[in-house]
Amino acid sequence: MGGGVLGVSTAAQLAKRGAQVTLVTEGRLASGASGRSLSWLNSYGPRSAEYHRLRLLGLDRYRTLSSQIDASAWLKFDGGLTWPGEGELGKYRDAFEHMRQVGYDAEWLSRDEVAARTPGVDVTAIPDDGAIFNPGEGWVELPPLVDHLAQVVVAHGGEIRTDAGPSEIVVSDGRVTGVRTADGAVLPADAAVLATGPAVPGTVAELGVKIPDATPISLLVRTPQIATPLRAVLNTPRVAVRPTPTGSLVLDSGWSEEEVVTREDGTYEVRDSTVQGLLREASAVLEGNPVLTAESYGVGPKPIPGDGEPVLGALGEIAGYSVAFTHSGATLGLIAGELLADEIVTGRPSPLLEAFRPTRFDQYRRSSHD
Ligand SMILES: Cc1cc2nc3c(=O)[nH]c(=O)nc-3n(C[C@H](O)[C@H](O)[C@H](O)COP(=O)(O)OP(=O)(O)OC[C@H]3O[C@@H](n4cnc5c(N)ncnc54)[C@H](O)[C@@H]3O)c2cc1C
Repeated sequence: MGGGVLGVSTAAQLAKRGAQVTLVTEGRLASGASGRSLSWLNSYGPRSAEYHRLRLLGLDRYRTLSSQIDASAWLKFDGGLTWPGEGELGKYRDAFEHMRQVGYDAEWLSRDEVAARTPGVDVTAIPDDGAIFNPGEGWVELPPLVDHLAQVVVAHGGEIRTDAGPSEIVVSDGRVTGVRTADGAVLPADAAVLATGPAVPGTVAELGVKIPDATPISLLVRTPQIATPLRAVLNTPRVAVRPTPTGSLVLDSGWSEEEVVTREDGTYEVRDSTVQGLLREASAVLEGNPVLTAESYGVGPKPIPGDGEPVLGALGEIAGYSVAFTHSGATLGLIAGELLADEIVTGRPSPLLEAFRPTRFDQYRRSSHD
């Protein structure tokens, strides 16, 4: 359930393994976070060994995909360039050392080296100490990936039901029995995967299952097509920038998402000053400082579990019920679907998901009932 990258990826892998699969989603495919994502493919910086390994496998699956189909328009490995803001040099040096220690490809480049290695950047925006370049990173545009995965579902005999309205997983006698779509119809099922992005914690809470939630509201601004040689994903103190298949750029940042106002009716107000500020910040890091305008923006929740780590796998107490709820769902999209599908079809727990199971939060549930 859920037509974002995690749901469609899992459905594709289930179908490939011979399961009879129906993907049910509320509206269109990729209408949630997957339709407004920066989608930087990376395992940048320090993190748990298990999470780093999973992210590396995520990158690996994208590389395999790029050798199997022509994804060259929407999947690129042109690197990521990151530099610190004021007072952040020590943190970035530590992150760099860590990446070197674990063998994650990272180079500390001077301004001149940046100019020579990765085009389209205004190197005067880079601090005197230089920037970190991760040549193995990349980006993906998720909607075409989701379309590709949906074709895989159908090619393997699965079905895609879009515009099903808010649907629910039906549980009876402690096990999944089906999925009910908004029109009341129930599709019988032995197993269901809740991959509804930011809606996951709220849905499982109704079953008495606690998944801590740190989902913020995010904003992704898209420019019209512009002439820029930029190829890398830029992660700079005031803005992140990535190229897109159409030659436009997408931009986001922490400060701009904090300026989004959630109205009482649940809709969002995005101030023009926020959009203009983000465009100015992006212009300042691009070679030639082009005047940028906004063609559109996407605003809404960005799924992030409370402890920052992915939540993937079966709920202990309800047979046949799995969840997929994660930050960095672009990086993990392919590998998460693969591992979840393996577990569901074989019934064998994957050691790679051990650290990420929803059951790790059981202690919170017990203590909240105490
Ligand atoms: C601004 C932004 C920047 C990001 N940057 C990065 C990045 O740089 N690198 C990275 O790896 N990741 C990044 N991410 C995260 C990544 O995009 C997400 O983790 C991923 O897209 C989540 O996919 P999903 O399938 O879990 O959820 P979604 O894409 O939100 O899909 C969930 C789907 O479920 C449907 N749904 C919800 N409720 C129901 C219901 N009751 N019944 C039926 N359907 C329902 C929704 O309509 C939606 O289509 C970013 C995300 C955002 C928003």
